[in-house]
Amino acid sequence: MAQTIFGKILSGEIPVEFVYEDEVCVAFNDVAPQAPVHILVIPRQPFEDAPTADTSTLGHILSIAAKLGKERCPNGFRLVTNIGEDGGQSVLHLHVHVLGGRALGWPPG
Ligand code: AMP
Repeated sequence: MAQTIFGKILSGEIPVEFVYEDEVCVAFNDVAPQAPVHILVIPRQPFEDAPTADTSTLGHILSIAAKLGKERCPNGFRLVTNIGEDGGQSVLHLHVHVLGGRALGWPPG
């Protein structure tokens, strides 16, 4: 798979401050936040999207995203993973968005 912008963040080529990291994943603030809290949780392994990731990694990043959301958005939050063109995925490296800090509309656009 070609190197994505998230691959460059993981390699240190693009410097980003991690708000969380462990052996499986890292988390950092989205460069174009759509809510007061907008964190991305990405696996270190470059799966293209959720359907191509192994269950363990997918479960881990979802769990970390939920914990970060609970910590930072006690009033509620949303976890999103966009998949493919119609899903609005722009970076082909699996990521979970943690969105919160305001009331979020539904359904999404
Ligand atoms: P998606 O559209 O679901 O693929 O989400 C990709 C997200 O990555 C978007 O919300 C972008 O704002 C975000 N993004 C792109 N480049 C960077 C970067 N260098 N640092 C942080 N977030 C980024």
